[in-house]
Amino acid sequence: MDPTKAMSVFSKACPYLARTGISALQALSVAGLAGASRPLSTSAADQARCSVCPGHTAQSALLAKASECPVVGPSIRANEAAASKAATLRQASAAACPFAKCAEDPSTEAISSSTATDNRAAAEPATHTSQEATFDYEGMYQAKLAKKHDDKSYRYFNNINRLAAKYPQAHTANASNIVSVWCSNDYLGQSKNPVVVDAMKTALDTYGAGAGGTRNIAGNSALHLRLESELAMLHRKEAALVFSSCFVANDATISTLCSSLPDCVIFSDKMNHASMIQGIRNSRAKKHIFDHNNLAHLEQLLAQYPRSTPKLIAFESVYSMSGTVGRIPEICTLAKKYGAITFLDEVHAVGMYGPHGAGVAEHYDYDASLRTPVGQRIPGSVLDQVDIITGTLGKAFGIVGGYIAASSSLVDMVRSYAPGFIFTTSLPPPINAGAVASIQYLSKSQRERFLQQTHMRELKADLTDMGIPVVPNPSHIVPVLVGDAESAKLASDMLLNEHNIYVQSINYPTVPVGEERLRITPGPGHDAHMRARLVGALDSVWNRLGLKRTMDWEREGGRCGVGESRVNSELYVGWKRGVEYVWEDHQLRQAHAYELARKGGVPIKPAIPETVQQQIVSATLA
Ligand code: PLP
Repeated sequence: MDPTKAMSVFSKACPYLARTGISALQALSVAGLAGASRPLSTSAADQARCSVCPGHTAQSALLAKASECPVVGPSIRANEAAASKAATLRQASAAACPFAKCAEDPSTEAISSSTATDNRAAAEPATHTSQEATFDYEGMYQAKLAKKHDDKSYRYFNNINRLAAKYPQAHTANASNIVSVWCSNDYLGQSKNPVVVDAMKTALDTYGAGAGGTRNIAGNSALHLRLESELAMLHRKEAALVFSSCFVANDATISTLCSSLPDCVIFSDKMNHASMIQGIRNSRAKKHIFDHNNLAHLEQLLAQYPRSTPKLIAFESVYSMSGTVGRIPEICTLAKKYGAITFLDEVHAVGMYGPHGAGVAEHYDYDASLRTPVGQRIPGSVLDQVDIITGTLGKAFGIVGGYIAASSSLVDMVRSYAPGFIFTTSLPPPINAGAVASIQYLSKSQRERFLQQTHMRELKADLTDMGIPVVPNPSHIVPVLVGDAESAKLASDMLLNEHNIYVQSINYPTVPVGEERLRITPGPGHDAHMRARLVGALDSVWNRLGLKRTMDWEREGGRCGVGESRVNSELYVGWKRGVEYVWEDHQLRQAHAYELARKGGVPIKPAIPETVQQQIVSATLA
C-alpha cells in the first residue's frame, strides 16, 4: 500500500493522529520511506535493530510522534524499556562469552569471516538452475541391498502364524498349511497360556487397548506400578522399571548411565547382543571388548585402570545364539576387586532358570532361593551381587516389553534421565496385566521348565547320536552348526517346504561368518513324536546338502565347540566345571516332586515315554 495512503488510513483509526495535519503526516511517512524499507514496527526486537540500521532516524521520527499518542504511546514506552533491558543483558553476556568477544575482535578476523561465510551459505541458498544430477537415493538403497544379497546375509522373513490352540503349530501364508515351529523364543508357550490370555482380556475390557501416553503424561497406571513391583520382587532388588522392549532398556540404561558417570570405562563381552552394543556406542564412553567368557582377558583389561575410575561390565547370562552361559559369580568377584558395577542381560534366562524363573543368577543359589520367598534379599547370593539386571517380557514370559531391576536410586536416575524411557508411549494395560500374570504363574509352576529342559536334553542326545553337529552348551538352546550362509538358508527352506518344520537359519552378522547355524528351541509342547520327525528331517537335509557332521568338524580341528573336547570348551561354554546342564538332575527331580505334590500326586504330563523324563520321574517316585 502507498505509505501516504496507509498513513491516512491509520490517522482515521487513531484518535491522536486524526488531530495531526496531513502535511505533517506526509513528512513523517516520506522520512520513514527514505530511511527504511521495512514496515513500521514497535516491537522491542525491531527497535533494537533500529539502533544500528540506517533507518534509525526516520523510524525514530515516526516513533517520537507516535509515542505522544495516548493509545500507542504507553506500549511504545514499555517496549523501549524492554529493549534497553535486553541490550544491557546482551552486553553483559557478550562480555562473558569468549566467542562473542572473538566476533568483535578485529584480530580474530579469520574466525569471524569464516563464520560470516557459513552464515551467508545458509542464508543464500544455491540457485539450483544447473543441470547437475541430484543424489541417487534409490541407487544407494539398492547398492546396500545388493551387498547383502552378495554376502548372503540378506534377511528373508517367513510368514508364520502361531496358533494359540495348537501350540507349537502354526500356519504359513496359506492358512491350511500347518507347520511345527521349532525356533520360537516363546520358550514356554506362555503366549497362549489361558492364565495369561484371560488376564489380558480382562484388562482389555476394563482399561482398553492403549496406554494413552508416555509415563509422564497420562500413561502411568496402577498396572505399570504393579508390574514393576512384581519384577523388583522376582529379582530381589529394590526397584524395577519397564520399557517398550529390552532392546530399548539396554540401550537407554547403558547410554544414560555411562554418559553420566565421569570418565566411565565399559567392559563388554565379545558376544554381547546388539542392544548393549548400541547403548555402549550411544554413551560415547571408552570401551574394551573382552573375549567371550574369558576372565583372564577381562581382568587384564580391568587392571589398567585405578579402582576409583567408574567402570561397567556388561554381559549376558544365556547367550542366545551359542547357548553358552555367562560366568556370573566370577565376573562379580572381578567387579568388586576392580571397583566396577555389573550389568547382566538375563533376556534368554528369565522365566527359564531358577526355582522362580528369575534367571541364571537365581539358579546359582537354587536351594537358598527356593527356601526364601521372592522379594526378600539373599545376602551374598549371586543375584544379590549383580548391580543391574535386564530382562524381557517377550520371550519366556510370552508377551512384549523389557525392564531393568536394580537399586532404587539407579532406577530413579534412569527413569529421570533416559530419553528412551521418557519420550515414548508406555506399555498398554493388557500387556502389563498379561506380564504380571505370566511372571506370577512361572514363579510357582515348575511344569513348563521341567518339560522344556527334558525335551531339550532328549533332542540334544538324539542329534548327537546321528552325528548332527550340536554346538555344546549347558542351556536350553540347541544350535546346530552348518558353517556357511547359503547352506544354512537352504537347509531351513527345505525343512519348511518339504517337511513342514520351521527352524530359522542364523547368518552373519548375528553370528560370525563360518559359524552359520540352525537355532532350535524345544518347548514344553514338543512331544516325542514331533521330535522324531525333526531328527529324521534334519538327517535327510544333511544328507541331501552334504553338510558336515560332527566327525567332519572334528577332522578339521573343530569349530565353535563342535568337534572339540568338552574339557577344552568348558570355560568358554560357562556354568560349573564338570556339570553338564544348568538345570542339574537333582533339581529336575526336585521340580518334578514339587509339581507332584502341588497337583495332588498327578505327575507332569506328558511325561512318558521320554527317556530322560523316565529316569527323573522314576527317581522321584522311588
Ligand atoms: N538382549 C538379548 C541378549 C537379546 O537376545 C534380545 C532380543 O533378542 C534383547 C536383549 C532385546 O530384547 P527385546 O526383544 O525385549 O527387545
